[in-house]
Amino acid sequence: MQDSFIDIGANLTDQSFDQDRDKIIEDSFKNGIEQIIVTSSSVNESLKSIELARSYKGKIWATAGIHPHNASDASENFKEDLMAILNHDEVVAIGECGLDYFRNFSSKEEQRNIFKDHLELAHKVDLPLFLHQRDAHDDFLGMIKDYGPKELKGVAHCFTGNKEQMESYLDLGLYIGVTGWLCDSRRNSELVGAINYIPKDRLLIETDSPYLMPKSLSKSLKTRRNEPQFLGYIAKELASLMEISLSELSSITRTNTQTLFAKIRAL
Ligand SMILES: [Zn+2]
Repeated sequence: MQDSFIDIGANLTDQSFDQDRDKIIEDSFKNGIEQIIVTSSSVNESLKSIELARSYKGKIWATAGIHPHNASDASENFKEDLMAILNHDEVVAIGECGLDYFRNFSSKEEQRNIFKDHLELAHKVDLPLFLHQRDAHDDFLGMIKDYGPKELKGVAHCFTGNKEQMESYLDLGLYIGVTGWLCDSRRNSELVGAINYIPKDRLLIETDSPYLMPKSLSKSLKTRRNEPQFLGYIAKELASLMEISLSELSSITRTNTQTLFAKIRAL
């Protein structure tokens, strides 16, 4: 039997899926994807993700939150708006939220304000944080320590850093999300070096579709758009680095996903 996986991060409301979203989802379910968490980057997108999750009940789930890129567009009462959304059955995490100083689409100050608000929401709602960080490690860590809940639950999604950065996340109790970044030999050396230090009970896998198409696969399929069904390819690469079987990786990551995102249950 084919080993199956849960994609904990796919941006399926992205416009690049507007023409064939349902086909992409069906293809994923046919090709070893059990469930998908659809990530959101604004209040509007969160509503779209929830709608999508409703039409694939029990198979698709949603996050709700504001990505640091969109911090400058957040409305004044976004906290109330998010609070109302977070109560929906389909919402399994707060996010994406965090800091991104690589692109700085919103100013650092705006990003920090919005991130602080998300960390405070996590005190009020029993949901894990879906965290995004790029080129902002020290501020990110400091803010989680200053404003995050004591019993912090969350995932450092699309982790691409080194062993030291990973250890600081693990110390906070975070899970580590690994993507197809792993399959890009030009920039994966730090991540590859850190992989075998991730405790097995903290490991999660994700595609971050439509972004981060695994480099090696992109060449053979002649597409740059990533899809959840390519998670199996990433999993193979990861399992071989970890020197474990694909079925062990499948079972480890399924258990971890269901532990962190408690609303998700095996079908
Ligand atoms: Zn992200």
